Amino acid sequence: MTTGPAIGRCCCGKVEVTLLEGMPKSGTHCHCKNCRTTSGGVGIYFFVLPSSAFSVKGQDELCSYTDLDTASGKPMQRSYCRTCFSTIGVVVPGRPMGIICGGLFPAESLPPPGVELFTAECAPWYRLHEGAAHFEGMPPK
Ligand SMILES: [Zn+2]
Ligand SMILES: [Zn+2]
Repeated sequence: MTTGPAIGRCCCGKVEVTLLEGMPKSGTHCHCKNCRTTSGGVGIYFFVLPSSAFSVKGQDELCSYTDLDTASGKPMQRSYCRTCFSTIGVVVPGRPMGIICGGLFPAESLPPPGVELFTAECAPWYRLHEGAAHFEGMPPK
């Protein structure tokens, strides 16, 4: 793994995210319907981090969608670059935790997933990562 901060950018470059403690050792791949539809892919690969562990340059360039149809029932504010609509994650100022999408970072820097969520909703041809913990929905509390 690399040392030092890891820098990720949206497609147009107006939003820049810095992981202050460097790239995490693993990520989470979520296959839920809302991650698929909001990203346009087969899921979202992301890092769940304390807000103190990342900074967002270009906060004014973000727009957001408040997702009310969540497994937890709590609204989730999904953030996007308002110019290129890259999915940034969940970055609400003042919240203790955030979610940063792995796709913002160079592919070769991405660690393998440690967890895959909502595997029951995953595309049938997708191969779950062997080294990850798999959950059909959210992990049990
Ligand atoms: Zn952008
Ligand atoms: Zn999801």
